[in-house]
Amino acid sequence: MSGHLTIAGLGPGPDAQVTPEVTAALAAASDIVGYGPYVARVAPSGAARHASDNRVELERARLALDLAAAGGRVVVVSSGDPGVFAMAAAVFEAVADHPARNTIAIDVLPGITAMLAAAARIGAPLGHDFCAINLSDNLKPWPLIERRLQLAAEADFAMGLYNPRSRARPAQFARALDILRAACGPARPIVFARAVGSADEAIAITDLGAATPEMADMRTVVLVGSSTTQRVGRWLYTPRSAG
Ligand code: SAH
Repeated sequence: MSGHLTIAGLGPGPDAQVTPEVTAALAAASDIVGYGPYVARVAPSGAARHASDNRVELERARLALDLAAAGGRVVVVSSGDPGVFAMAAAVFEAVADHPARNTIAIDVLPGITAMLAAAARIGAPLGHDFCAINLSDNLKPWPLIERRLQLAAEADFAMGLYNPRSRARPAQFARALDILRAACGPARPIVFARAVGSADEAIAITDLGAATPEMADMRTVVLVGSSTTQRVGRWLYTPRSAG
């Protein structure tokens, strides 16, 4: 093996939610590669830092493979879990046609993904079957997103909605809320969990009837309950049994 590539999840924000194996991999790294704000979360060390823009995932993955092929101990960082709408899949896509793919040892280290960190803050809204949907249409057509929202609502999944709303596509999240309201009714619980684990954390529990698009931005993960999700005091939970 010529080099080592680790794809690591940094969790939602707090240091206490970074796993010990990720901390150890970062301490041993020669190079840290990732989107700028995520690289900035890594404590200073002797490692070289390769921070890049958010939209260049494949380029960043190729750079990481090149550095590993040259003998480095490279760590690619993502927020949350690297396998959830993040770098791990991009790295494997780049591995498929990298000349040194058979000489690089690759490890994927999991992290706490945003929907699970948010769920823990408010109880157990994902206590029964659930799904995760990325609402960004950067990498897939919007009609496919609408179809998945519709079918997930019909299947009565609780949902975690990532990348709900950006300035570039303000109307789409309003449309997503319309679809959910029509399929689930106005009383269905919905949670807007913003910047979970950071000093700016803000969590609002409401229902689809009162939800407005402005309640979400790109630092928000949105949780939608199933038909059995209920409130108990300040908590929200979905019972483990259904039907
Ligand atoms: N790999 C990440 C997700 C990357 S996609 C993970 O597993 O969490 C980026 C989206 O994740 C954001 O638009 C937002 O919806 C969500 N997100 C990431 N960190 C968050 C946090 N601390 N609080 C709330 N949502 C977060």
